[in-house]
Amino acid sequence: MGNLRQTRRSFLIQSGIIFSTLASPFPFSTIAKPNYMKDEKYFDVIIIGGSYAGLSAAMALGRAMRDVLVIDSGLPCNRQTPHSHNFITQDGEKPHEIAQKAKSQVLKYDTVEFHNGLAISSTKTDSGFIITTETGESFKAKKLLFATGVKDIMPSIDGFSECWGISVIHCPYCHGYEVRNEKTGILANGDFAFHYAQLINNWTKDLTIFTNGEAKFSPEQLDKITKNNIAIIEKEIDHLNHKDGKVRQIVFKDKSAFDLTAIYSRPKFEQHCKIPEALGCEMTEQGHIKVDMLQKTNIDNVFACGDSTSLMRSVSNAVSTGNLAGAMINNVMTGEEF
Ligand SMILES: Cc1cc2nc3c(=O)[nH]c(=O)nc-3n(C[C@H](O)[C@H](O)[C@H](O)COP(=O)(O)OP(=O)(O)OC[C@H]3O[C@@H](n4cnc5c(N)ncnc54)[C@H](O)[C@@H]3O)c2cc1C
Repeated sequence: MGNLRQTRRSFLIQSGIIFSTLASPFPFSTIAKPNYMKDEKYFDVIIIGGSYAGLSAAMALGRAMRDVLVIDSGLPCNRQTPHSHNFITQDGEKPHEIAQKAKSQVLKYDTVEFHNGLAISSTKTDSGFIITTETGESFKAKKLLFATGVKDIMPSIDGFSECWGISVIHCPYCHGYEVRNEKTGILANGDFAFHYAQLINNWTKDLTIFTNGEAKFSPEQLDKITKNNIAIIEKEIDHLNHKDGKVRQIVFKDKSAFDLTAIYSRPKFEQHCKIPEALGCEMTEQGHIKVDMLQKTNIDNVFACGDSTSLMRSVSNAVSTGNLAGAMINNVMTGEEF
């Protein structure tokens, strides 16, 4: 713990967080800003992705007097879920209303601009980057921040995508309370299904695992699953019966069916935006953009935050890493300019 404290303290000092709280009266207007001319669309930072992570970073940067452009294609991963939970002050709000409120607060800063569009490529120049959009506009900036999230890949089970985020859910912390004690399925296999079973057993005792094919558990795992009265069904799934995304039944290929009202599943995902990889950003084994403690990638002047960088998928984590990325980019720039 002592070591942890030490590390965290030296990290904060090194990254300028402690220093920045000793707000100096030094006038920002005397800092030269070479070439950052808005009419030529030369921004300090371009943030690609204008959802929770991107907007959070934009607020930190906008308030730090940075000229920021946020480019967003309007497809956050939680767009189908009716209510978002477990983010303090916004619990139970509609996802797009949280984002809308964030956007209106961020755009009060005249340092921040928002562009609706899809960024499709990036070119590295001597002084930074040029980002090009699908509709042919290009924008220049010194630094790039990817807050582009991930795309969940829906399995080929009819009804799954319609129920996604409504009654087929990925995270008990986000939606488990709302379906507590309900008749619930886990659509997964092996270690992941075992982990899910351990976790979700805390929210409901009416649990069944659906492996959609041969079950793959160790004898120890099987022992524990049985001890906790959780059945395993290996039958292949044909489709989900649902009404407006509310699941009613899993229907198997043999035409039999199982009644239930909630399913946990974590589909595969891919990066929503391919530009970081094209720029040479290193990826983790799980498929996230690799960042250090300052949200910096291995490519100079390129940062990333939110779901694109983290296993911990939550609005609060997206906001937190976005806020950190914003502060760290500003910290780097103040160092360069001083
Ligand atoms: C179904 C579901 C329900 C969830 N429910 C909850 C919940 O209740 N509580 C909770 O805390 N978390 C929940 N989450 C997790 C939460 O939604 C994510 O952690 C959060 O949205 C991540 O924010 P982000 O800004 O990193 O990415 P996202 O919100 O996914 O936003 C990424 C943005 O980048 C844009 N983008 C991507 N590529 C480009 C490009 N090339 N050019 C321009 N724009 C681009 C996208 O259009 C999108 O607007 C849920 C997730 C899912 C999938």
